[in-house]
Amino acid sequence: MGILRRMHRALLVVLSLVLLSACGGQGNEATDLWENSVIRLANERGKLIIATEPTFRPFEWKNESDELVGFDIDLARMIGKELGVEVEFLSAAFTSLIPALVGGKADLIMSGMTATTERALTVSYTDPYFHTITCLLVSTSRAADVRSIADLNKAGRVIAVKEGTTGHFAAKRHCPNAKIVTTELENDAANEVAQGKADAFLYDLWSIRQHNKNHPDTTRVITTPVSREPYAIACRKGDPESIAWLNLVLRTMRLDGRLQELYEKYGLEDVR
Ligand code: GLN
Repeated sequence: MGILRRMHRALLVVLSLVLLSACGGQGNEATDLWENSVIRLANERGKLIIATEPTFRPFEWKNESDELVGFDIDLARMIGKELGVEVEFLSAAFTSLIPALVGGKADLIMSGMTATTERALTVSYTDPYFHTITCLLVSTSRAADVRSIADLNKAGRVIAVKEGTTGHFAAKRHCPNAKIVTTELENDAANEVAQGKADAFLYDLWSIRQHNKNHPDTTRVITTPVSREPYAIACRKGDPESIAWLNLVLRTMRLDGRLQELYEKYGLEDVR
């Protein structure tokens, strides 16, 4: 190789190194993370968009006047206040929430959503703001002999679940021998049990309690935990700045008592 050619090569290497360090230096990457974070963009835009599925009482539901209310709705508005922006809610089916977030239609998900290790491969979660369990709503007529989830793992048993929820995943894991019936809405799953078409509905404790209140004669509750459920706010991947800011807001609200007040308003108990 001629000397000129070699020098030309060396010059190219030096040039590309200079360019690389100018575009990808550490300082710039850190600034970019904040620049592109959902929280900063929402602040600039004056609006935070929250995806939620409004059929999960007492976390989010439509009241008699068709207003969106609940624990998550209040919490979202409190976060909006901390950020100095208005909060807009995007209603979607539970299984459409993560696609809506990933597709950029919403900034965050707040929907009584459990932070699971599997979901956390697709979205990122804040620290939990509430802890509960999944348990069983059992049919008094069909499943008088059922004492635990293990009793349901038999051919002929029918378990109702809301599609794509942690109850659905737990039913598949614990009861491969049972028939699993999925519904889009929790009311339909509860009705399967109340009408004696399913042996049990596997779902989050606070909802199960309400369905039992609605159907006191045809259902009973087995409160032995089937799984642990930490509820957290979901954020798109690659946005550690938003997660850090939201975690600080949640921690501040825990310390100054605002979170506790919200639990009490909705009759909730944080079981850690
Ligand atoms: N906590 C459950 C889950 O994340 C159910 C949530 C819901 O139905 N809104 O799967």
